[in-house]
Amino acid sequence: MKSKVTGLVLAGGRGTRMGRVDKGLQPFRGSTLVAHVLARLSPQVASVAINANRNLPQYQVVAGASPVLPDFLEGFAGPLAGLQIGLQFCPTELLLTAPCDSPLFPLDMAERLHAAMAVQDADLAMAVTMERDPEQPDAAPYRQPHPVFSLIKASVLPQLDAYLETGGRRMEGFFKSLRVAEVLFDDSAAFGNINTLEDLHRAERATPAPAPAPTSAPAARSADSDPAALPVDEAQRLICDRITAVEATETLPLLNALDRVLAADIISPINVPAYDNSAMDGYALRGADLPVDGAAPVTFKNIGIAYAGHPFTQAPQANECIRIMTGATIPPDCDSVLPQELAAAIDGDQVTIAANAIRAGANLRRAGEDLPQGGIAIAAGKLLRPADLGLIASLGIPSVTVRRKLRVAFFSTGDELRSIGEQLEAGCVYDSNRYTLFGMLQRLGCDVIDMGVVRDDPQALEAALRQAAKTADAIITSGGVSEGAADYTRDIMALLGDVAFWKLAMRPGRPLAFGKVQTEQDSAWLFGLPGNPVAVMVSFYLFARPALLRMMGADSKLQTMQARATETIRKRPGRTEYQRGIVSNAADGAPQVRLTGAQGSGILSSMTEANCIVVLHHAQANVAAGQLVDVLLFDGLT
Ligand code: AMP
Ligand code: MG
Repeated sequence: MKSKVTGLVLAGGRGTRMGRVDKGLQPFRGSTLVAHVLARLSPQVASVAINANRNLPQYQVVAGASPVLPDFLEGFAGPLAGLQIGLQFCPTELLLTAPCDSPLFPLDMAERLHAAMAVQDADLAMAVTMERDPEQPDAAPYRQPHPVFSLIKASVLPQLDAYLETGGRRMEGFFKSLRVAEVLFDDSAAFGNINTLEDLHRAERATPAPAPAPTSAPAARSADSDPAALPVDEAQRLICDRITAVEATETLPLLNALDRVLAADIISPINVPAYDNSAMDGYALRGADLPVDGAAPVTFKNIGIAYAGHPFTQAPQANECIRIMTGATIPPDCDSVLPQELAAAIDGDQVTIAANAIRAGANLRRAGEDLPQGGIAIAAGKLLRPADLGLIASLGIPSVTVRRKLRVAFFSTGDELRSIGEQLEAGCVYDSNRYTLFGMLQRLGCDVIDMGVVRDDPQALEAALRQAAKTADAIITSGGVSEGAADYTRDIMALLGDVAFWKLAMRPGRPLAFGKVQTEQDSAWLFGLPGNPVAVMVSFYLFARPALLRMMGADSKLQTMQARATETIRKRPGRTEYQRGIVSNAADGAPQVRLTGAQGSGILSSMTEANCIVVLHHAQANVAAGQLVDVLLFDGLT
């Protein structure tokens, strides 16, 4: 189907209601409206073109190698003029139009319009939605056609030319002369357009995402051998570019702040340590009294004792010293400590130091050497661990400001899934992803909203996504996102949001959906993970986890270490592979790793057996025994 269709973005209007700005070039979610529309259209069609009448060079930048077509007719004659030049250019059998001011239309639009066109043997298939009058919410819904979202046979060009000759300019007027199939789309918001600058700002505010929609990525890679296979790091970057941290914070007593993310730098109100003190039990003295070349023994007179918490405040005279305990304040004028075990001889109050025993300045902890007053003790973004709590306590700070907890809703999809306690009929499996996802989210410190299993039913899926968007910052689903999936998950996700479906160059975990679910009032980031029990975990760790950490305001680097492969590992270049492994210490003490055996993406037992994932990078080929490989320790994946 796709190969038969050319996409045309209609951007040739006057933008009258926007104050005559060039609508398509208006900034939107980190790029422009037209770029968003193009990114949504490209994956659905074989080639694209933009119809524009002003600022052609700027449109050309967005279009890249695709053409920018000004109207053939004079004087901003409206969308039909755009359609005319589009049909004149159209190198394929069919043309799909989308206006530059509707950046959220469904990703399966071409497919659905085409299906209806074929079934009804129509010249044109047009999107329609059912709408309600907000003024009269009880009145029956009415049918709203969207003629600018149409799939049209290129062969109707002569009819269009004739219609334009008569002076006709209205799309629906022209459509009267054609066999039209109407396709009802459920989500009217997806066809909503942006007419005024106010609409635009509202849409911007609703989704302050900084980067262009990731839907563009697979299209941009269409020249590759596997057109839609996106490398893992690219997918991670696309996700990371869009996600921003939740802003709300709360202030908590220190003991409640474990595993939370620090929202503001902790500034040290004091020097730590607060005063110069001794690092050893021994004798405090003036470095100036040590022999210059250190070559000869020297004897000091002990004049008192300094205990931790009980300073000795008298300054020593030449060649006098003070017995001092670890942590005690260094007495006035002293700058060095002789550890007691280095005293060559002690005779009453006479302490003899062997030649070269210490240097001036030795064994002192200086005020502020750990943390200077006014310095950053812990930077914002740190996930607070026990040592951090201790450090904050050492500054006398009783409470800290942390980001609010992230709310994450999750559910499993698939008609074959049964919950624990239910009868397991033939062909069914227990929903294990619910438990792995629960565990992984809990470990991240999220407020987890467990929505259980959602049946493969469009209404149930839509209701679940809407409900999740209402309550959560992010939604994690498993199952139903692969290309061949027989269920409705993909359709509903595409309808309800600005969601991209990626085929990733990785194993396991090839399919992934990512984007924003957007209802009238609410929105939430969506991570549609694959259904296979190992794939769901690997995809969670690689894509959802870093994104969720970013939303939590935390640093999200995954720590890998290296270990020696104990055996040959087969690996095909051109995709990243994640294999389950067991790290141990070799006889020489160095870390080594062996694989757990069967690596099928449904084999969860080998995941429990493993203590790490061996990461075989995109370009990497077979690994020989003894070669170092990167591993991701499960223990590091808090
Ligand atoms: P899907 O990604 O929906 O095509 O599912 C791929 C495979 O994973 C199928 O064998 C499913 O039965 C299985 N699967 C999907 N979801 C779950 C789940 N929540 N628990 C266990 N297995 C699942
Ligand atoms: Mg499924």
